[in-house]
Amino acid sequence: MLNRILVVGASAAGLTAAEALRREGFTEELTIVGDEPHAPYDRPPLSKQILRGTWEDDRTVLRSDALLAGLGATWILGTAATALDLPAREVTLADGRVLGYDGLVIATGAAARRLPFGHHLAGVHVLRTLDDTLRLREELKTACSVAIVGAGFLGAEVAAVVRELGLTVTMIDPLPAPMIRQFGPEPGELLRRLHEGHGVDVRCGVGVTALQGDGRVEGVELADGSQVAADVVLVAVGASPATGWLAGSGLPIGDGVECDQYCVAAPGVVAAGDVASWHHPGIGRRRLEHRMNATEQATNAARNLLGQGVPFEPVPYFWTDQYDVKLQVYGRSGAEFDFRIVAGDPAEGRFAALYGDGEQVVGALAWNLPRQARLLREHVVRSTPWNSAAHQELNSH
Ligand SMILES: Cc1cc2nc3c(=O)[nH]c(=O)nc-3n(C[C@H](O)[C@H](O)[C@H](O)COP(=O)(O)OP(=O)(O)OC[C@H]3O[C@@H](n4cnc5c(N)ncnc54)[C@H](O)[C@@H]3O)c2cc1C
Repeated sequence: MLNRILVVGASAAGLTAAEALRREGFTEELTIVGDEPHAPYDRPPLSKQILRGTWEDDRTVLRSDALLAGLGATWILGTAATALDLPAREVTLADGRVLGYDGLVIATGAAARRLPFGHHLAGVHVLRTLDDTLRLREELKTACSVAIVGAGFLGAEVAAVVRELGLTVTMIDPLPAPMIRQFGPEPGELLRRLHEGHGVDVRCGVGVTALQGDGRVEGVELADGSQVAADVVLVAVGASPATGWLAGSGLPIGDGVECDQYCVAAPGVVAAGDVASWHHPGIGRRRLEHRMNATEQATNAARNLLGQGVPFEPVPYFWTDQYDVKLQVYGRSGAEFDFRIVAGDPAEGRFAALYGDGEQVVGALAWNLPRQARLLREHVVRSTPWNSAAHQELNSH
């Protein structure tokens, strides 16, 4: 019998899980704990409209105060969970409180990774939270040159915004092209040209060995011996699942909280969102740092906490916005797959492509072609044989 459900993590996944629990008929005690002081807000606009200053900061808020109150939950914000006692079904908070539960939703997301050096210097930033974004935005007002360490999706989005603000930008990554891990070499090369076309100095294929400066950052030293002057540095080298508070709990922790296909990590414990590594029945173990996944997985995890037994087997989806380009991906993508453009033309600034594993379609990419992205998604859902799907031309209008 579930009388008390505790949700740890008060962001996209935590909020969605709480709403799903209520929708599915859970009327008993619901408590939501979050370590940030803010009510749930959305992260994708942080590296886009909020950093650029084109949205008011409060537009990131996910629900109005009235909707949050309507959930009938107890909110404990600005307080981290620090430990989980599985056998006792208790979570300890940073202020010493101990909360008992019958059902637990783990939705603590991920935290920005750091370099092993240089973070003590003023002017060195990471970007994960609203407060990180406001700090970076403030410094950009007086900065001239920005070095971005990492050309993954965060680094590439911030490079675009900072160029739009008129500052000098150098983007550095040891891999051969921006976002090559997510998209593979051909779109990676197109992204490199996109950024270079907007004036970004793209240094791919070379790592960063040191951040220079005394008190305040002055530049970046690269593995090839070159140096890049910068008065602001953004370290965008990925994120790690926020599982530190679960150490010693006995929960299976690998790259995230390891769950089965129902998002269940232990009896009475589910996980969702960026923190969760679950067994996708079709494609194996996965941990996704995608906004849509946080919503879908939290809904699924909540239903399964209530005993509905629904496997979680989504078609993964994510998007990124850089300059006037919207890139959307359904399914799986990356250098390990075959890649073929099936609509549009990169030279015209819009195209759509499929990814395949040699036998069947596993993913679809659209570069400024949202309608085609949705059409191509069907090939991913149906696992269309590669040879037939990859040789059909799609109309790009
Ligand atoms: C700048 C930025 C831009 C992004 N842009 C895109 C995009 O364009 N497209 C896309 O698909 N995805 C994007 N994402 C990813 C997307 O935002 C995430 O997938 C989504 O936020 C995951 O939601 P979540 O609730 O699982 O985790 P999070 O949003 O990370 O929330 C977890 C919450 O739990 C809190 N927490 C952590 N540890 C504890 C603890 N011990 N106790 C209590 N609370 C704790 C955290 O502080 C946080 O508030 C972006 C992410 C960032 C950071």
